[in-house]
Amino acid sequence: MAPVGDNVVVSKMKLEKMLSMKGGKGEASYVNNSQAQAQHARSMLHLLRETLDGVKLNSTEVPFVVADLGCSCGSNTIYMIDVIIKHMTKRYEAIGYEQLPEFSAFFSDLPSNDFNTLFQLLPPYGGGSMEECLASNSHRSYFAAGVPGSFYRRLFPAKSVNVFYSAFSLHWLSQVPDIVLDKRSTAYNKGRIFIHGANESTANAYKKQFQSDLAGFLRSRSKEMKRGGSMFLVCLGRTSLDPTDQGGAGLLFGTHFQDAWDDLVQEGLITSEKRDNFNIPVFAPSLYDFKEVVEADGSFIINKLDVFRGGSPLVVNQPDDEAEIGRALANSCRSVSGVLVDAHIGDQLSEELFYRVEHRASSQAKELLEKLQFFHIVASLSLA
Ligand code: SAH
Repeated sequence: MAPVGDNVVVSKMKLEKMLSMKGGKGEASYVNNSQAQAQHARSMLHLLRETLDGVKLNSTEVPFVVADLGCSCGSNTIYMIDVIIKHMTKRYEAIGYEQLPEFSAFFSDLPSNDFNTLFQLLPPYGGGSMEECLASNSHRSYFAAGVPGSFYRRLFPAKSVNVFYSAFSLHWLSQVPDIVLDKRSTAYNKGRIFIHGANESTANAYKKQFQSDLAGFLRSRSKEMKRGGSMFLVCLGRTSLDPTDQGGAGLLFGTHFQDAWDDLVQEGLITSEKRDNFNIPVFAPSLYDFKEVVEADGSFIINKLDVFRGGSPLVVNQPDDEAEIGRALANSCRSVSGVLVDAHIGDQLSEELFYRVEHRASSQAKELLEKLQFFHIVASLSLA
């Protein structure tokens, strides 16, 4: 973690060395703020199962390999891996295999991910018979390993993975485009910390970065996937064609969070330049932005590619409690961007910033609950 007041320009550092969701189990941790992602993923289980039904079954003599890319440290990844392996087990059973293959699950994320918290949540290995596999809740029926690295590059040996799963991760860019930080460029994101409502050249620079990142992702996966394998991808998306309208991501990062940064500037706590050097490296693509890349790459057949309404990222007990809604928004924002903010302005100013996010959000609580909705791009792809 960066020392307090450290004068680091986050965006110019290699983002992948520092990006992670907030680790540990505290109030603003990812573990405690990813119930919405869990709900949204569960609402898409039927689509995941459709993808899994299209996966070719291995000989049972070699391991069946599943990888979750951008697994983070919460229990969501463990739940989803379990769903995938149970579904595949049933398929082996249905066609009368007496013996199951051994299952192997790779949990992959950037090196700064809190793998310790994740590994502590993993149940112990409990064998791999058909009955054990289907019945186990307190045991896992697969071998587990962590794989550190960026999914925009190679992570696995060639032709070694049957199923790739990735949820709520591909909207994270590998970097903030350099021209967005260059004062002389028309893409310089003056006055803003996100592209929602920014000028067209800034948003286009983000779009270009997203597309070149996704191309790197597909190139790598096409080498690593076994023949007959499939991939199920979910990321934030938008319904508007205009990339300066980032939909739900725009509301999360472009309103109260933006205003809170402006507060710090107006109160003299940071310079406007310090704010302008901070940019959230997230891009919610349109279906078209996504499809263009898959088609240009050409290694994958599109089984499904659609945009779905996911719902609100705010999970609250009392929808009338404005303070709770404000806190939920601040925690939700902090659990995903807090590590970057801490590194940019230090822990104390970060505390001040999210305090302001919370206050601003609670004063607009009703509107937030109504309007803050995420849309997701869902893609099911197999090797061409
Ligand atoms: N899939 C989980 C977590 C999503 S949070 C869930 O459904 O709850 C997004 C995750 O993507 C974070 O853990 C982040 O570190 C990871 N991520 C972002 N960019 C990445 C990259 N280039 N390579 C690997 N992981 C990345």
